Amino acid sequence: MVVAAPSAEYALQHLIDPETCIRCNTCEATCPIDAITHDSRNYVVDFAICKNCNACVSPCPTGAIDHWHQVPKATPFTLDDQFSWDTLPPPIELEAGAQVDVPNDVRELTEIATAGQGGPASPPWSASHPYVNLYSQAKPAIATVTGNYRLTADGASADIRHIVLDFATTAFPVLEGQTLGILPPGVDQNGKPHHVRLYSVASPRDGERPRYNNVALTIKRVTADHEGKPVLGIGSNYMCDLKIGDQVKVVGPYGTSYLMPNHPGSSVMMVCTGTGSAPMRAITERRRRRRALNEGGELLLFFGARVAEELPYFGPLLKLPKDFIDINFAFSRVADQPKTYVQDRIRERADKVVTMLQDDNCYIYLCGLKGMEKGVIEAFRDVCREHSLDWDALKPQLLAKSRLHIETY
Ligand code: NAP
Repeated sequence: MVVAAPSAEYALQHLIDPETCIRCNTCEATCPIDAITHDSRNYVVDFAICKNCNACVSPCPTGAIDHWHQVPKATPFTLDDQFSWDTLPPPIELEAGAQVDVPNDVRELTEIATAGQGGPASPPWSASHPYVNLYSQAKPAIATVTGNYRLTADGASADIRHIVLDFATTAFPVLEGQTLGILPPGVDQNGKPHHVRLYSVASPRDGERPRYNNVALTIKRVTADHEGKPVLGIGSNYMCDLKIGDQVKVVGPYGTSYLMPNHPGSSVMMVCTGTGSAPMRAITERRRRRRALNEGGELLLFFGARVAEELPYFGPLLKLPKDFIDINFAFSRVADQPKTYVQDRIRERADKVVTMLQDDNCYIYLCGLKGMEKGVIEAFRDVCREHSLDWDALKPQLLAKSRLHIETY
């Protein structure tokens, strides 16, 4: 490839592979100049806007973002072209001697991204090696449903389920904090197969049942959209209605950074709302199974739900010993009680939180509602200020040391 003068007839166009994209919105949320957009199926990059800064490359959990095609500068792929794709088109054959305008930083930054050195997207130094992209939409793994239990009380307004999938003899290695994709059967309003739905794994790496080749998911049946209008979520209703023995198409696993530390003495602070508890359950259960090894380290959990009856894993959490995990529930809709959010509990536990924020062996995980992220960061800022610490100076250090991990939707 030739690094060319600006007059080169061809350019590298940044494209997203629709086959491996899991629609997690990370790229669109990361792009500093709004060059990435999406429709109901595909995430796409606008050639006219993208400056190849590569900010989106490193955070992408699947590598779907990591594609550049040589295109005639005058006729790059349009947004409509990209929206219509199910797979990336084959690379264009260039004429002999054709010059390609390569943005100076593309290759260098791509190498950095693929080496996994992007600051916020690095896992804790002691995290185990994650496997990703073992199964694609073209070649999914087939799992059998071996459990589908309602976690929320019968009278509760939310139907949240603990669903167990067994992979039998198919290898599907996952670490706590990773996600997998489910392919719901059927087609969308355009007659195309439904896109992949992403769920965090709620079981530890050695299986929901130790040494079984199975995983657990925490799924809430979606019955309304964000405005409260009645809508039946395609993926969640498919999953929540599954019967024992049903077969499910699974893709992934995904995720290379939202992983737990493994070194003895490492502590974990977890903040979650609702089904954002899935990765926290996996981390807690991993640590619970290793308790006898006395590896040290603490677990601090902040867990928000409307009422106790809607809090997934409420019962089992209450049974965990206090010297194993320090649990702080926040209920927002209990009759005759003030609305309490996880950020309120964080403020109440300021001393403990600040001690853990300053402990280089403590790793912090947020998962759940997008709105919670802002509130929790504000609470961290407040408790730091109370203790004469500057959160805005601390946060970049936490990210540089891969100690702060956020997954909010
Ligand atoms: P939810 O029941 O609607 O809310 C859980 C709690 O969070 C409620 O007490 C709610 O209070 C409170 N809350 C609302 N806004 C808040 C804010 N700004 N700050 C702090 N707390 C706030 O939650 P959900 O429906 O289960 O949603 C969970 C989220 O986790 C979803 O966005 C989902 O995509 C995500 N997630 C799911 C998985 C999975 O594997 N299933 C994995 C990762 C993430 P109110 O009384 O005010 O509503």
